[in-house]
Amino acid sequence: MEKVVILGTGAAGLTAALYTARANLEPLVFEGLEPGGQLTTTTEVENFPGFPQGIMGPALMENMRAQATRFGTRFVRASVESVDFSGSPLSLKGDDGKQYESATVIIATGATAKYLGLESEQKLIGRGVTACATCDGAFYRDVPVCVIGGGDTAVEEAVFLTRFASKVTIIHRRDQLRASKIMADRALSNPKIEVMWDSTVEEVLDVEKGEVTGVRLKNVKTGEISELEVAGYFSAIGHKPNTDPFKGQLDMDETGYLITDKTRTNTPGVFAAGDVQDSVYRQAVTAAGTGCMAALEAERYLESLEG
Ligand code: NDP
Repeated sequence: MEKVVILGTGAAGLTAALYTARANLEPLVFEGLEPGGQLTTTTEVENFPGFPQGIMGPALMENMRAQATRFGTRFVRASVESVDFSGSPLSLKGDDGKQYESATVIIATGATAKYLGLESEQKLIGRGVTACATCDGAFYRDVPVCVIGGGDTAVEEAVFLTRFASKVTIIHRRDQLRASKIMADRALSNPKIEVMWDSTVEEVLDVEKGEVTGVRLKNVKTGEISELEVAGYFSAIGHKPNTDPFKGQLDMDETGYLITDKTRTNTPGVFAAGDVQDSVYRQAVTAAGTGCMAALEAERYLESLEG
């Protein structure tokens, strides 16, 4: 039986691994579907403390992995398929066909940004198409950009992007924002922000440049087609927390985020860190912070079993 199984190798999972490994708990880490997590899909990370010149996302994750490995973390190339947290030990089934048992589990399976799924959009991810204004906004200085969506994320990202972009167009499929009134008002009163109401993206344009040059839009009420020139395309239509294997086993909110109290889930010995339990901050540094918290909580829990 394992002492600690950690699910996920993003900033939360690897920080939890570092702390539990240094505590001699020999953590076993499931690499998950996207080893390294969301940071592997970004380019330069300028807001992780300790790197005054910035660091490339994949390099940051390689460093975190090397640091966790140095203290004895073990990795398995597997994702969790299903769990049984009803008894002790906690039981997990991997997609490698193996069964695992552990005294504690730290869930750091993250969340996946949603995209519309258009072929032209998918082709341009990382080349003008992104889902993270905080990560990539500063690369779009003095050029027009668009934000897709009408929720709090969309308006917050739009307002943030006005610091850099020459103009920000929110493209929303309805004639009313979903965002909270105070945040919506902040966006609507910003002179750099315009909203294209009742509009959906038909195609992301690249005019053979291999990077975003614009979007083709359709007005859903009139059927009118138009084109908008933009250099950046920010998808803000929500995130999906990766919690499917835990349905029916752990408490979640209505959108599937795990509900935690200081990283503790409702099941003793099961902790959650990072974006899988955080729909608000979603930063590498906050994920790392909660990964540390979950590790310390797991350590204390194991001590309480011994005591
Ligand atoms: P939401 O689910 O609230 O909003 C998603 C938006 O994307 C909606 O406007 C929706 O349109 C639109 N959308 C979804 N799917 C499509 C699609 N296929 N095509 C076009 N548009 C689509 O997600 P958010 O990420 O904005 O927010 C998630 C949670 O996090 C919320 O509870 C929010 O309040 C919270 N949050 C809080 C913040 C804060 O307080 N500072 C900041 C950011 C988020 P429609 O409206 O038509 O459904």
